[in-house]
Amino acid sequence: MNVLGRLGIESPEDGACSGPGNWHAAAGAAVLESRNPANGELLATVRCAGSEDYARVMAVAREAALAWRTVPAPKRGEIVRQIGDALRQHKDALGSLVSLEVGKIKAEGDGEVQEMIDMADFAVGQSRMLYGLTLPSERPDHAMRELWHPLGVVAVMTAFNFPVAVWSWNAFLSAICGNATVWKPSPKSPLTAIAVQKICNGVLERNGAPPVFQLLVDGPENVLARRMVEDPAVDLLSFTGSSRVGRAVASGVAGRFGKYLLELSGNNAIIVDHDADPGLALPSIVFGAVGTAGQRCTTTRRLIVHRSREQELVSSLAAAYAQVKVGDPLEPSTLMGPLVDADAVRAFEATVAAAIAEGAELVCGGKRIEGAGHFVQPTILRARNDMACVQQETFAPILYVMPFDTLEEGIAMNNASRFGLSSALFTRDLRSAERWLSAAGSDCGIANVNIGTSGAEIGGAFGGEKETGGGREAGSDAWKAYMRRQTSTVFHGERPVLAQGLEFRLPG
Ligand code: NAD
Repeated sequence: MNVLGRLGIESPEDGACSGPGNWHAAAGAAVLESRNPANGELLATVRCAGSEDYARVMAVAREAALAWRTVPAPKRGEIVRQIGDALRQHKDALGSLVSLEVGKIKAEGDGEVQEMIDMADFAVGQSRMLYGLTLPSERPDHAMRELWHPLGVVAVMTAFNFPVAVWSWNAFLSAICGNATVWKPSPKSPLTAIAVQKICNGVLERNGAPPVFQLLVDGPENVLARRMVEDPAVDLLSFTGSSRVGRAVASGVAGRFGKYLLELSGNNAIIVDHDADPGLALPSIVFGAVGTAGQRCTTTRRLIVHRSREQELVSSLAAAYAQVKVGDPLEPSTLMGPLVDADAVRAFEATVAAAIAEGAELVCGGKRIEGAGHFVQPTILRARNDMACVQQETFAPILYVMPFDTLEEGIAMNNASRFGLSSALFTRDLRSAERWLSAAGSDCGIANVNIGTSGAEIGGAFGGEKETGGGREAGSDAWKAYMRRQTSTVFHGERPVLAQGLEFRLPG
């Protein structure tokens, strides 16, 4: 059976799901076409959700959240454990669908599903560790505690480039924390979202659990997404996407005093110092810059290299780039698939042209690859950090190389960016490494030594500073974003006293 058949996907599919067996789409709904970016072939069509679907999904989500919050957290974890197992069974098919729908090579498609499985395992353990605190009260016979409670309905909006993993970072924690989760995927990747929803539905149905996972496939005009931003029924809006859209989302949600979590754009640098091990640096740079065709938030876009190593490193990189096989993402020897769509190819070409006009020097690549599919050449340019093209995030495999003379200068160049997601230093010097990781070092949410900028594990808190949005997802204590904190004091004595020694007695 083909990949779509193995995942139970037909054409057309309804874009809204309120729970198991509850798929719907507005009459006369706009239809999304999901096409393979490697050859333009139609995979399937999806009828977008409309206004009534939105209301229905939100109402069911609210009901489900009310029931789910009373289910003990470890029992909620058990449902997530079963979803993790179902993902294990569907890993090959779902990984292939990621490749078919957004063009990731098969290893990366499978890796994305593995990330979901890892995230499920993590969330299962976390479901027994939603720790509060006990705090010493300043008053006798008083017990003070801090408790964590579910929020209610969490909306998750995702970007095309991690069409399933980012949802799982949010949804599995949100579920063990006791919330219902409504997913609004990218209109560029509706089929992977529908496949995941079907997998979740199977587990919810088998367990008779409340329908705590919902789906709303919105059209490219983002009408329902905008409504979610304004909707006070959304208790947390977790948004992954560009800083441009994230800015509008954040100000909209803040306008209603809502909670939001932002995972936005990056412009990540690797610094290669004079003493770096080339055997470590070279593969990390190539994977970071070329992997996922430069369409990761953590993609290496800036290479800041010690002047004494620049010539040698650029020559080795150009030789390595010549070996990168670009083509069908499902072909095992392919290292770089297509960009997601024709707009992405146009943005790539416009950026290369603008960079050259600004004085950048082309080392290799720079062109689209003619034929079916949205393929481009992996590209290296020598540039300056203050160039407009270098300071923006172009979602394509473009690497800018810039020299530095002292580590202080290199760190300053890394930090001279509006974004603050991922960063890495290659060095053999312990002092340089520690300086990089100190308060005077990298200002990014992720700072690595001797490994590249992309390929984070789920166990750490993931996210970035400045225009990357400040959110943290996945591991560490990221679960706290999906709960509300409550401080409670219980008096168990005979004579209550006020805090701060306050006297307040009624006369007589
Ligand atoms: P995008 O900003 O175009 O779209 C992201 C999501 O926002 C999509 O679901 C889209 O439909 C929705 N959207 C678009 N306009 C909207 C509006 N006005 N109101 C509400 N929602 C709207 O991003 P993209 O092209 O899908 O993804 C690439 C971007 O995402 C890059 O900037 C990348 O760095 C970023 N990203 C960040 C992370 C991270 O964890 N920091 C992870 C993946 C991607």
